[in-house]
Amino acid sequence: MANNIRRIWETDPASRPRERTFESDVVGRFRSGRKVGNQPEPLSEWRVTTGDPLVAAEIARRMGGEPAEWETDKEDNLEVLTEASSIEIIIESSDKLDASMKLFGLSGLAHHCDGVEYLSPDEDLGKACGCPELVQDRKDRARAGRGPKPSIDVAFKVADAPELGVFRFNSGSWELVKVFHTLLADVDSYDGPVRARLSIEPVSYTTKAGRDVSYNKPVITVLGPDETAHSLAA
Ligand SMILES: [Zn+2]
Repeated sequence: MANNIRRIWETDPASRPRERTFESDVVGRFRSGRKVGNQPEPLSEWRVTTGDPLVAAEIARRMGGEPAEWETDKEDNLEVLTEASSIEIIIESSDKLDASMKLFGLSGLAHHCDGVEYLSPDEDLGKACGCPELVQDRKDRARAGRGPKPSIDVAFKVADAPELGVFRFNSGSWELVKVFHTLLADVDSYDGPVRARLSIEPVSYTTKAGRDVSYNKPVITVLGPDETAHSLAA
């Protein structure tokens, strides 16, 4: 299960890193949106950002699109707007999946919980966080900027090009958080790494009031054990 690793710092809290430790090992990020001006724009094909020109070129070759620079103060200053809405990935174990609720304020992470209890900072760990019980109320608070929204992290390799290294996908999708426990169970149902499909899927429906709604949601589907890992180990 995710999060058990936090105990590793119990006996030596001074050595505890502030946030996740594998960030520097990540070669790129899969993103289901971008910003145009100040407006977020959802995408129906994957956008991949990286700081490594070789990784950008390889992603473009496999998924379509062209590497281009984009404005960021982070290391991943190259982006590829791919032509692929779906890609097969390898998830090593459920430790590579993490979900929590986060609200960022001007000075950083202001509320970090699992919906019931605080997950950080240490002095608040396990205390009731005061988030509303009903998901709709949580969504309303998040939308108003007063409550945390989902933060789902997935670290994975591209199934056909594991040598590229580890990519990361971070999502604030309520749709994904709804099925996250199923995803964890699916990954945990296999002993070793699993093969999964990471896709952006369109959702559209008409509400009872007759309003047309459409949006994209990220979907992760576990396909089975990663056979390449098995054959390498054999
Ligand atoms: Zn909370």
